[in-house]
Amino acid sequence: MFDPMEVILNSTGALVYVIDVNTYEILYANERCKEEFGEITGKVCYKELQRDQYAPCNFCPLYQYQEESNSPPIGTIFEWENQNSINNRHYMFVERIIEWRDGRTVKVQIGIDITIQKTLEKEILKEKDNAIDLFETIIDSTIEGLIIYNDNNHCIRVNGVATKLFGYTREEMIGQNVFNFIAPSSHDLVKEVVTKRNQDPYKSDMLRKDGSTFSAILRGKDLVLAGEKIRISAVLDITDIKKKEKEILRLAHYDSLTELPNRLLLKELLGHMIKRNMYNSYYGALLFIDLDHFKIVNDTKGHGIGDMVLIETAKRIQTISRQTDIVARLGGDEFVVAVEPLLTDKDSAITNISIMAKKILEELQKPYLIADNDFRLTASIGIVQFNDDYHSIDELMKFADSAMYNAKENGRNEYQFFDPKLQQMMEIKALLIERLRKSIHANVMFLYYQPQIMVVSRQQIVGVEALIRWNDPQHGMISPASFIPIAEECGLIIPLGEWILREAMQQLKRWESDSIKKEWRISVNVSFKQFEKESFVSLLKSMVNEYKIISNKLRLELTESLLIKNTEVALDKINMLKDMGFSLSIDDFGTGYSSLSYLKQLPIDELKIDQSFIRDLVIDHNDFIIVETILSIGRKFNLEVIAEGVETHEQYEKLLSMGCKYFQGYLFGKPVKEEKLLIESAVY
Ligand code: C2E
Ligand code: MG
Ligand code: MG
Repeated sequence: MFDPMEVILNSTGALVYVIDVNTYEILYANERCKEEFGEITGKVCYKELQRDQYAPCNFCPLYQYQEESNSPPIGTIFEWENQNSINNRHYMFVERIIEWRDGRTVKVQIGIDITIQKTLEKEILKEKDNAIDLFETIIDSTIEGLIIYNDNNHCIRVNGVATKLFGYTREEMIGQNVFNFIAPSSHDLVKEVVTKRNQDPYKSDMLRKDGSTFSAILRGKDLVLAGEKIRISAVLDITDIKKKEKEILRLAHYDSLTELPNRLLLKELLGHMIKRNMYNSYYGALLFIDLDHFKIVNDTKGHGIGDMVLIETAKRIQTISRQTDIVARLGGDEFVVAVEPLLTDKDSAITNISIMAKKILEELQKPYLIADNDFRLTASIGIVQFNDDYHSIDELMKFADSAMYNAKENGRNEYQFFDPKLQQMMEIKALLIERLRKSIHANVMFLYYQPQIMVVSRQQIVGVEALIRWNDPQHGMISPASFIPIAEECGLIIPLGEWILREAMQQLKRWESDSIKKEWRISVNVSFKQFEKESFVSLLKSMVNEYKIISNKLRLELTESLLIKNTEVALDKINMLKDMGFSLSIDDFGTGYSSLSYLKQLPIDELKIDQSFIRDLVIDHNDFIIVETILSIGRKFNLEVIAEGVETHEQYEKLLSMGCKYFQGYLFGKPVKEEKLLIESAVY
């Protein structure tokens, strides 16, 4: 008989059973069950439907009833899933407890094969896990701590960096209000940023679990994830950066040796000091302190000791200055004290600052006991006062510096107030140096020549003195008396002196083919700076070779001071020059502290009586005696003696009567260009 129900049950893909809930006997199984598990009707379900199962299955909803020795009430519906241990397929069961036709309590169980879904689900889960793993790896690999929190500010996720930064475990952080991680001082700020949903980075102080705080840069980003509003906060710890920033700032503003403010900071602080004083017009001062001859300490004891001396100096200056003053180091052995303006009266301010400067000088004179050394140092101090902002800081520093320079010039170990007149002179000098520097190679330097006369039976030119002339395009002729000392001071005398020697030698060479002048020699003035140069002798030697002159035609005029200064070395050099054939003269003789003892050692040829003794020779008895003495020295040592600056016949006659044979002066000819020499020389 066609039973439509049977047809339906057997054609469905689902497993359909009827099982006695007390005996577990399978009362009915459809075709699908039999296909899967064989003929199982009348058998015990757990034995047939699972592998090696000898007792009711503990995953079966009936199990718990069996434990309690009762049956589920009629009408109860269970839903459960299970992976079958025989065919390994996944089933989803829906079962309902009913009363069977014979009165037994049974469950009608329908099992739907969900193996494919399960596999898919597993794959999805696996993918999800992978994605989560990847996500975790990514968020853990940032250098920022990441805190993800919801709209209620509750932390829902953190990365490993965040746990390290805040000193919590992941579990401890999750669920906490994010404001627990913000230092109270930054609460308001963070609240404002979060409320405004601002996503720009900003600075905030953070709070660790242990209560300590750290500085961080925060950046939040709002997102909606699975319908939920969340905010991700990235926390970048900037403690190290801040430390470095501080260090950089310190390095930029402080001297690393003495830890005093450097030039940059000094200028800044001085600027504030002057501004603060703007409405008071009190007198403040800037003291430039420079150690005298500090270079010697460095050169002889090494830089290590030199550094210690500087550190000690900084300390000593600090002990003298007041708290409100600024003590700075400009570099090298230069220190500055900016004295806070406190007095309205200029004179009292001068007195006070003088006392302070004296104290500093005294303090620096005390012995420096460093590494078994006992140094004695002095310093020079330049002071400039200020009471308004009329002068710029750079100007004030320049003034104090120039005052310090004057203190050095004055013999060191003293203080000097800035003098505007001196400053003006220094500026003029600086300009002169600049012009001179440019002039050496600009064809504006000339050698003039002044004849030197020998009188035996008649007057005869025997040589000339080469005298430099500077024809400045702007300022006209500039006297060597004014620019030679400056050239010596700034070192320009070295190139200039070399140029003069070359000019003179080339002149001598040209004269070799002149019937009259070929007999003449040229006297060249040699500066002590030139002479001191180690290369002086070799330079002359190479020039003689270059121009191929007869060296005894060149007479080198040296000064007494040059010879007295460093006798041993000077003597060696002079002997070498003599050996090379040069003729030697002592210029301005009598003006230096002539020591006769050096004269006898020197292979010189000539003494030049300084013109200051000639000027009043006729009327001044003292000059007469000096000239007479020089002439007699010359005779005794067998030296030529030449009188320079002879201007009058009286002087000439007097000198002649005293036995002088050589003369130079306006009477015989002024210094002129080479081509005018014979024309303008008056030889009587
Ligand atoms: P100095 O070597 O003693 O030169 C003599 C100076 O006296 C020269 O001055 C000369 O012009 C001047 N003079 C000569 N005869 C008379 C005179 O009858 N009456 C007066 N009142 N003066 C006379 P100048 O040329 O102005 O040179 C001055 C000083 O500059 C020189 O003194 C010398 O020390 C230095 N100087 C000149 N040319 C050179 C040079 O080429 N090299 C170096 N190193 N120094 C030089
Ligand atoms: Mg001379
Ligand atoms: Mg002279």
